[in-house]
Amino acid sequence: MTLTNEQTPTLTSAEHIALAEAHSAHNYHPLPVVAASARGAWITDVTGRSYLDCLSAYSAMNFGHANPAILAAAHAQLDRVSLTSRAFSHDQFGPFCAELAALIGKDMVLPMNTGAEAVESAVKVARKWGYQVKGVPDGQATIIVADGNFHGRTTTIVSFSDDPDARADYGPYTPGFRSVPFGDAAALAAAIDETTVAVLLEPVQGEAGIIVPPPDYLRTVRELCTTHNVLFIADEIQSGLARTGNTLACQHFDVVPDMYLLGKALGGGAVPVSAVVADASVLGVLKPGQHGSTFGGNPVACAVGRAVIELLNTGEYQDRARRLGHHLRTGLDSLIGQGVTQVRNLGLWAGVDIDPAFGTGREVCERLLTRGILVKDTHGATIRFAPPLVVESTELDWAVRNLREVLAA
Ligand SMILES: *Cc1c(COP(=O)(O)O)cnc(C)c1O
Repeated sequence: MTLTNEQTPTLTSAEHIALAEAHSAHNYHPLPVVAASARGAWITDVTGRSYLDCLSAYSAMNFGHANPAILAAAHAQLDRVSLTSRAFSHDQFGPFCAELAALIGKDMVLPMNTGAEAVESAVKVARKWGYQVKGVPDGQATIIVADGNFHGRTTTIVSFSDDPDARADYGPYTPGFRSVPFGDAAALAAAIDETTVAVLLEPVQGEAGIIVPPPDYLRTVRELCTTHNVLFIADEIQSGLARTGNTLACQHFDVVPDMYLLGKALGGGAVPVSAVVADASVLGVLKPGQHGSTFGGNPVACAVGRAVIELLNTGEYQDRARRLGHHLRTGLDSLIGQGVTQVRNLGLWAGVDIDPAFGTGREVCERLLTRGILVKDTHGATIRFAPPLVVESTELDWAVRNLREVLAA
C-alpha cells in the first residue's frame, strides 16, 4: 500500500501501528501511541488524546517539546544555510565549538551526530592517544568499561556490552575492552595495566536503571586514571545537560574527566547532535583526514546546539531538575512497599523497581498509558522517569498518583 502525505493524517492509530508492524524492522517494541504533535511536557496522538511525556526521548527532550528558542534557531538556520560539509566552514561552527568548550570547561570540541558516534570517536581518539602519547605498543591498547554499560549500538560498542539482546549474534566482536563491575574501584584498579589507554564510564548508568555509584567511586577512578596515565572518559550522553540538576553529572561527584561525551539533549530534541569535548592535549592527536563525518558540525546542528548552550547558561533547567527531582523522589518513595521495591534518582531522572508480584515493568507502563502517562521500562522490572525539565510539580504528583493507583489495581 502506498500512501500520499495527504492521506496519512486520516489514518487511525491502529492503522499507523499496523503499517509500522508490516514495514518497519522490529528492533523496538513501542507502546501503542502514535504522536501527531507535542508541546512542553505533553504529546498529543493522532486521535487528539494528550499524554504526559515521562521519558523525554531518553533525555533528548530535556528542554521540552517545541521549545521556542530551539525551534527559532533551527528554523532561522534552515533558511540561511543547512549543510556545507566540513570541506568548508560556516558561521555557526566556530562559535558553537567555542561556546560548548567554555560551558564544559575544556579546550576543544569534536562534533558528531549520534551518541554512538561520539563513543566511537572517543575510542579512536583514546587509542591514538595511547599509541602516540602514552607509548602503548601498536595494536595493544585496552579500554576498561563497566558491567551493565550502555554506550550505543555499533558493532564495536556492542562488543563490550553484557546485555545479551544488544550483543548476541553480532560477532566477530571488536577486541581491546575489559569490563569490571560498576561502582567497584578495586576491580577497576586491578584491571589497569600498561596497555590501558582509557576508562569509559557513564557517571550514572542510565539504561541499566539509573544506577548511582557509591559517593567516592568516580573520585577514586579519577585518581587511578591520573596515577596510571589513563584517560577518564565520561559518557554524559544521557546524564548530561541539566538532567541530574547540574550541567554534568560528574559535577555531583566533584570530578573532572579527560573527555566528556555529549549527545541526546545537545540537539534540543530537534536534530541529532553529539560531541566529544576534551583538552587539546587529547583531541589534538587528530590530524586532517584521520576522522570525519559529513553531517557532524553542520549549520543546523550548530545553531541548535548554540541555543541549547544558551538555555544551559541560564542555570534555570539545572535548578528545575534539582527541585523537581527532589519532589518526584519524595512522591516515589511513598510507593515503596506498595508495589515499588526501590527508587534511585539523581535530579529529575529516576529508576523505579516494580515488585514482580505487581506486574512487569512493561505491564505497568501499558496501564499508565491508558491513563495518559508515557513511561518506558528498562531491563524488565524497572521504570525510568525522565520527563522534560519544563514539567510542573503538579503534573509529577498526578503521575505518581496514577502509578499508585495502577499498582493498587
Ligand atoms: C543513548 C546513549 C548512547 C547512544 O546514543 P545514540 O544517539 O542512540 O547513538 C550512548 N551512551 C549513553 C549513555 C546513552 O544513553
